[in-house]
Amino acid sequence: MLKLPTVIGFVGLGQMGEPMAAFIAKGDTPLVCFDREPGRAPKGSTEARDLAQVVDRSDTIFLSLPDGKIVNAVAAEIAAMDNVAGKVVIDMSTIGPDAAKEAAATLTGAGMIFVDAPVSGGRQGALKASITIIWAGPKAQMKRHQHIIDLFCANSFHVGDQPGQGQAVKLLNNFLSATAMAATSEAVLFGMSHGVEMKTILDVVKVSTGNNTAVADKFPNRILTGSYDAGFFAELLNKDVRLYSQFVEDAGTSNLMGTRVAEIWQDVEEKLPPQSDFTRVFEVLEKRSRS
Ligand code: NAD
Repeated sequence: MLKLPTVIGFVGLGQMGEPMAAFIAKGDTPLVCFDREPGRAPKGSTEARDLAQVVDRSDTIFLSLPDGKIVNAVAAEIAAMDNVAGKVVIDMSTIGPDAAKEAAATLTGAGMIFVDAPVSGGRQGALKASITIIWAGPKAQMKRHQHIIDLFCANSFHVGDQPGQGQAVKLLNNFLSATAMAATSEAVLFGMSHGVEMKTILDVVKVSTGNNTAVADKFPNRILTGSYDAGFFAELLNKDVRLYSQFVEDAGTSNLMGTRVAEIWQDVEEKLPPQSDFTRVFEVLEKRSRS
């Protein structure tokens, strides 16, 4: 029987990390947090002054960082620290299979255990602890951390033992979400061009065969309301779709849709200011319709 973690570390308190850490802080295991932007540690946790302090004080470290470059820089920093053997790093960032394999090699090389465990469900899901964690790593470690996972996730799946497998499932999911968002924007604009109101279109499709996550959630709650606050930046979704398309090319499976959807999101990122909510794809395509 593996010993339960005694102190949890958490690195990266952004749109996803902050609410996830806030739920972990409500549990019984002490939590130490670090973000390069100070002052983001949630109530009930301790804020570390640097990465070394988090790693030193905890035996399991969760990461929620923007991309593979940053995750691998952090992994290299951790691996170079003293007394890290036996500690567990659970990376919940979306970084693609190669970056996950690289981080795994770096950390296991230092005697650590690495888990590739991206999450899905968005900031709104993280705020309600209704997200899904896609675990690729030792099953025994999943069991050992289940009581922590259950604090901030509604669903947890073990998809394999190898780093990169979690990323593959996460990327294909985000490709589907990105496709639904872009395709629904175009479909709604077409309906509106015929004088039908957006809400009417959504009401019909939601109970018909075209229903998807954009129709059921993003459009009624973030676009129709004008709030554009799904909590996921367009550049991060573009990163995911680009990674998806790149890895599908490597795998050699059909990529007709992936190529086109990746082009659309690249264009959306270029047209929007940095840190724009990804639901603003609707505005970009709306402008394109008029030109
Ligand atoms: P974010 O940009 O809001 O947050 C990232 C955080 O990491 C920021 O607070 C930043 O200050 C911090 N950071 C960056 N470099 C750091 C470093 N070297 N050391 C410490 N802290 C550092 O991004 P997010 O939306 O929270 O996403 C985090 C990850 O989760 C990404 O990989 C993203 O693709 C993925 N993800 C996001 C969502 C979403 O809806 N937002 C959903 C699922 C997965």
